[in-house]
Amino acid sequence: MKKHNFSAGPCILPEEVLQKAAEAVINFNNDDLSLIEISHRSKSFVAVMEKARSLVLELLDLEGKGYKVLFLQGGASTQFLMTAYNLLHKKAAYLNTGTWSGKAIKEAKLFGELVEVASSKDQNFNYIPKDYSIPEDVDYFHCTSNNTIFGTQMKSFPQTESPLVCDMSSDIFSRRLDFSKFDLIYAGAQKNMGPAGTTLIVVKEDILGKIDRVIPSMLDYQVHIGKDSMFNTPSVFAVYVSMLTLEWLKDLGGIPFIEKVNQKKADLLYTEIDRNPLFKGVVAVEDRSVMNATFVLTNESLKDTFDTMLKDAGINGLNGHRSVGGYRASMYNALPLHSVQALVDVMQELERKS
Ligand code: PMP
Repeated sequence: MKKHNFSAGPCILPEEVLQKAAEAVINFNNDDLSLIEISHRSKSFVAVMEKARSLVLELLDLEGKGYKVLFLQGGASTQFLMTAYNLLHKKAAYLNTGTWSGKAIKEAKLFGELVEVASSKDQNFNYIPKDYSIPEDVDYFHCTSNNTIFGTQMKSFPQTESPLVCDMSSDIFSRRLDFSKFDLIYAGAQKNMGPAGTTLIVVKEDILGKIDRVIPSMLDYQVHIGKDSMFNTPSVFAVYVSMLTLEWLKDLGGIPFIEKVNQKKADLLYTEIDRNPLFKGVVAVEDRSVMNATFVLTNESLKDTFDTMLKDAGINGLNGHRSVGGYRASMYNALPLHSVQALVDVMQELERKS
């Protein structure tokens, strides 16, 4: 039987997506060729890229609003520098909510002045700073919607006249947001969208072309837009599996549907963390992530017993990130409710035993 997969990313994908992906690797579209041995410029693959792009705009409700969709390589980590390369003329503002924001800040500093509007570093990033102001004269404001490592999530986003840039790697397509408030969204595929190997960028075209810096072609959004994400060979397998996952999400009822399921899963687990005296959540309650729940044992001596019970129950990927310790349950879109129930059952069983 398949394990309950709480891995933080790469992570669980829908079973039917894995089936279809496996079939396509052997024989794509009944063409007697594998998906990964055909040209990315073939009709069949160009259709995949187009479908993936249009599904992104449809699911995010951004059709006809001036946005372009790209599927590039280099991970979200390349976006840390690419956003700054393309948008940072003089000064940019960043909100520091954890390791990934910190890495984005480090890269952006190479290109201009950087204002860190607020940081939750003082408490090991266990909350989202709220009282801060964004200078009016910045080229853009950057934030991370969900902090995969620490388990915090922004529940609201600041009003700003400057372009709003957001790293949504670990919660894209998981909840309803007014995505038209964002000017540039980026996300590595390997959480809610597909396998590692491609990165989604959704960018409002009118924010581009405003700086005079010379940009190397591979780092220039306008070059990739001009070539429909085919300036160089795209990651065909990752884009195809992403397309399948987006189709799966659309067929289920899109973001409004999955948001309810995700909330149910998170409520089930957080209720148990708060009820069970053997466990404690590690972040501010109002900032808890619906995607990544971080918690610790109140009695460390139970660790070996709990870990063995998790293993016996077929629960995978629950170890916390090395910089936080404890446990982290990642509950991305494809994780079924019964997997969260299996985890809660083990937590209750530990309580009974001790
Ligand atoms: N941002 C966030 C929020 C992440 O969770 C991650 C990876 N876990 C990254 C950026 C980095 O992504 P990549 O490994 O695709 O470069």
